[in-house]
Amino acid sequence: HNEMAITNDDVRQLDRAYVFHSWSMQGNLNPLVIAGAQGCELWDYDGNRYLDFSSQLVNVNIGYQHPRVLAAMKAQLETLVTIAPATANLARGEAAKRIVELAPEGFSKVFFTNAGADANENAIRMARLYTGRDKIFSAYRSYHGNTGSAIAATGDWRRVPNEYSRGHVHFFNPYLYRSEFNASSEAEECERALAHLRRMIECEGPSSIAAILLESIPGTAGILVPPAGYMQGVRALADEFGIVLILDEVMAGFGRTGSWFAFEQDGIVPDLITFAKGVNAGYVPAGGVLISAPIAHYFDDHFFAGGLTYSGHPLAMAAIVATLDAMKEENVVQNAAEVGNGVLRPALEALAAKHSLIGEVRGRGMFQALELVSNRKTKTPLTATEMAAIKAALTGAGLLTFVVENRIHVVPPCIMSAKEVQQGMAIFDQVLAQFGHFSQ
Ligand code: PLP
Repeated sequence: HNEMAITNDDVRQLDRAYVFHSWSMQGNLNPLVIAGAQGCELWDYDGNRYLDFSSQLVNVNIGYQHPRVLAAMKAQLETLVTIAPATANLARGEAAKRIVELAPEGFSKVFFTNAGADANENAIRMARLYTGRDKIFSAYRSYHGNTGSAIAATGDWRRVPNEYSRGHVHFFNPYLYRSEFNASSEAEECERALAHLRRMIECEGPSSIAAILLESIPGTAGILVPPAGYMQGVRALADEFGIVLILDEVMAGFGRTGSWFAFEQDGIVPDLITFAKGVNAGYVPAGGVLISAPIAHYFDDHFFAGGLTYSGHPLAMAAIVATLDAMKEENVVQNAAEVGNGVLRPALEALAAKHSLIGEVRGRGMFQALELVSNRKTKTPLTATEMAAIKAALTGAGLLTFVVENRIHVVPPCIMSAKEVQQGMAIFDQVLAQFGHFSQ
């Protein structure tokens, strides 16, 4: 193959012939073809260019092909490209040290995983082993990853400390726009959601509950910024009943909301933090669990029954070290706060003032969502067909967005400039104007 002669069709045909895709029926797929990317822009083989308001799956926080991260990965390639987890490795130690230094006081160790799902698996495992309890509380409106059966299927001794008879309990987290609690204010939503959680804990039996697992800001579920006081309330309930609080920062963490961790803005400290995505912008798959001192110390003389062949893979670790250093030196988190809250958010609100399709704008920093409705009063969501038409038009006009159900998640790389945000917003404005008839 001559590199220059490749077309979008070649790549798409190859994909359709051999690649099995995530979360889809395989029959009618028409995947977007991407050939390359730089900064906040991507392109295909046919000369089309795209501005990224999606950060792929909300992971490319430092943008594409960051030279410093590429250089660090190349240097690691030349030194040592793979090594077993039980060894001591410089890149792994440096990565763990940096992550611990970003965490609140009281966090002491990092356990590395391959991604976000297994970060949550291992945080759950730690909470169960630490408390000797088994139930895990989590929210209906959440996404924590796509694993779950491998250790239960395992035949050898490693299965045994991981066999729990009672599993998962779900509760409603706050979502004022579509309140489950018939609330009409943030304060009411907060109070009622906390009362509901307390009742669930009491009814399930506090002494059976190992952990409450929550996304600091539920991401795929709709960027559901919790009302003021909710996270403090959850922390207080966890303390009252001796339950481990695990905050999932896989999507919200590492600058996305304008702070290193999203929970910092709620003034609480969890017991375990799970992360992935933004920690190295997804340049090499990586995730992990940040462990507070009491839980880390517990495992000084208690066996930790968990592990992965690639835990702390050197290439992923080198990417973490360089990503975090570049983010600090280039003030990427500050940029997410300033451009996210100061430029993107007001622009989205201006868009909502103009287009009645937009029912609500919500989010923090570079983590914003638009809820699209056919009627602002009834809040009727746009249909899947209508959303697909809007998404296709946005992509066709050169803007990549993250669409879930009736929402457009506006989640650019955290490095995006005010000028690029304005460019993207101009496309948004044009495209939404074509679909005004979807709104009554
Ligand atoms: N947790 C959250 C909050 C996520 O958004 C995701 C992925 O989108 C995951 C966990 C799972 O991460 P991964 O896909 O890396 O396993």
